[in-house]
Amino acid sequence: MAHILIVGEGLNGLTAALQLKKLTSQEDWITVISQEQCGIVKTSLPYVSVGLRPMREARIELAPLLKRHKIHHIVSPIKQLHPLRQVVMLENGRRIPFDYLIIADGMEPAQDHISGLRQSLDMVHSLVSQDETMRAQLAFQDFLNTPGPMTVALAPGSSEYESAYQYIFNIDGLLRRYRLRDQVPIRFITPEPFLGHFGIGGVGHSNQLLEEEFRSRQISWICNAAIDRVDPSAFHTIHFDDDGLEKGRQLLETRYGMLWPSMRVKPFIANVEGLTNNTGLIPTNRLLQSLAYNNIFAIGEVVAQHRLDPTPMEAPQPCSDFLRESMTSTVAGNLAEIIRARYPLYEPTGNGFFMIDFGRQGAAFLAVPQRPPRNIDKIYQGRFVHVMKRAMERYHVRKLRAGITEPVFERLLFRLMKVPRIKQKVA
Ligand SMILES: Cc1cc2nc3c(=O)[nH]c(=O)nc-3n(C[C@H](O)[C@H](O)[C@H](O)COP(=O)(O)OP(=O)(O)OC[C@H]3O[C@@H](n4cnc5c(N)ncnc54)[C@H](O)[C@@H]3O)c2cc1C
Repeated sequence: MAHILIVGEGLNGLTAALQLKKLTSQEDWITVISQEQCGIVKTSLPYVSVGLRPMREARIELAPLLKRHKIHHIVSPIKQLHPLRQVVMLENGRRIPFDYLIIADGMEPAQDHISGLRQSLDMVHSLVSQDETMRAQLAFQDFLNTPGPMTVALAPGSSEYESAYQYIFNIDGLLRRYRLRDQVPIRFITPEPFLGHFGIGGVGHSNQLLEEEFRSRQISWICNAAIDRVDPSAFHTIHFDDDGLEKGRQLLETRYGMLWPSMRVKPFIANVEGLTNNTGLIPTNRLLQSLAYNNIFAIGEVVAQHRLDPTPMEAPQPCSDFLRESMTSTVAGNLAEIIRARYPLYEPTGNGFFMIDFGRQGAAFLAVPQRPPRNIDKIYQGRFVHVMKRAMERYHVRKLRAGITEPVFERLLFRLMKVPRIKQKVA
C-alpha cells in the first residue's frame, strides 16, 4: 500500500489524482492537498475579468468530485516539506506523511519585482487568483464608463504568452463592440524579442501573423521590454536592443493596466535544500522525478525546462495545456508502475500545441517538438480555431467536473494530427 500526496487542486493536480485513482489499486491512498475549497480553471479567468463569463463557470467544487472518486482531500496550504522524513506540515498544524509526493501547486506571482506596484493596484490588475480577477472585473466595468489608454504587459520571466495575446485580441473586439475602441489606445509590452516568439523562437510564421493582426487592429507593441516601475497612472518601461543594451525608456500613460507578472515557486518548495536549481525551478529527470529526491515528482511550470538560446530579456518556455497534460499522464503512468515495483514506462513527448482566439478567427500553433529544431512547425488558421478554443475552455471545466481525464474526442483529435501526448519507452 502506498500513500500518494498531490499538492495543488488546479488542472494538473486534479487530473493527476483522477488518473492515478484509475491506475492504482484499492489499497493505495491518494490525497489532494488544496489551498482552497474550490478548484479554479485559470484559463477561463481572462474571460471572467471582462465579464464574458461568470466566475462560477471557472470553479470546480472539489469536495463532491473527490469524494465520488474516493480521493482524500485536505484543505490547508502546505507550510513545510521535509523530503527525507517524507512528511509535509500544513498551516492548520497537521502533519501528513507520504510515500510519494506530486508537486502540482503552480507558481506564485513575484509582484515585488516591480517597484510601485503595490501603490498602483487601482490601475494595474492581474489574473493570478480569483480575488484579483474579481477586482480586475470591477475595475473594467468602471473603465468602460471612463475609458482611456490601456497597457497590457508581460513581465520578463512570465511565460503566459498565449493568455496575454488572447486577452489583447478579446479586449480589442469587446471595445469595438461597445464603440469605445476610438477612446482606448492599446499598447502591448513583452520581453519576447519579437511578437509571436512565445519563448520558443516562434512557430512557423507566427511573427508575421501576429504583427499583421496587431497592425490591422492598431495595437502598438514594444518587444525586448521590461517594466522599470509603475505609478498610479503610468507604466515606465525600458527597452533593449538585440544585444541586451538599453535602447530607450518610455512612459505609458495608462488608465487600465493588465499585467502578467513573473512567477516563482512557493516558499515551502524553495526552502528545501537541493529541490530547486539556480533558476528557482525543480530539475527533474525525463520521468519528471526530482533529481534530488526520487519519491518527489513535479508537473507544470515548476519543472525546470531546457534553456533555449538566451534572449535579451528573460522569455521562458511556456508550459502549454498540451505539455502539462503530457507531464501529468507521464507522472501518473510511471508512479502506478513504480508502486507495483515495475520499471517506469513513460516520458513526455515535449510537443507543444496551443490555440489563440483572435475574436472571430483564431490560430492554432503546433510545434513538434516544442523546442527547436522541429519536425513539425505549423499554424492552422480560421474561424474553426475560435470556435474550438472557446469550446475547449468550457469542455476542460466540464471534463474535470465529470472526473474524465482524457476523453475519446481529445485522444482522437491528437491521434489524427499524429501528435502523441506521451512516449512509451522500452524498459
Ligand atoms: C490568467 C491566466 C490565463 C491562462 N491562460 C492559459 C491558456 O489560455 N492556455 C494555457 O495553456 N495556459 C494558460 N494559463 C496557464 C495555466 O492556467 C497554468 O499553467 C495552469 O493553471 C497550471 O496549472 P496547475 O495545476 O499547475 O497550477 P494552478 O492552476 O496554479 O493550481 C495550483 C493550485 O495549487 C494550490 N496551492 C498553491 N500553493 C499551495 C500550498 N502551499 N498548499 C496546497 N495547495 C497549494 C493553489 O490553490 C492552486 O489552485 C493561464 C494562466 C493564467 C494565470
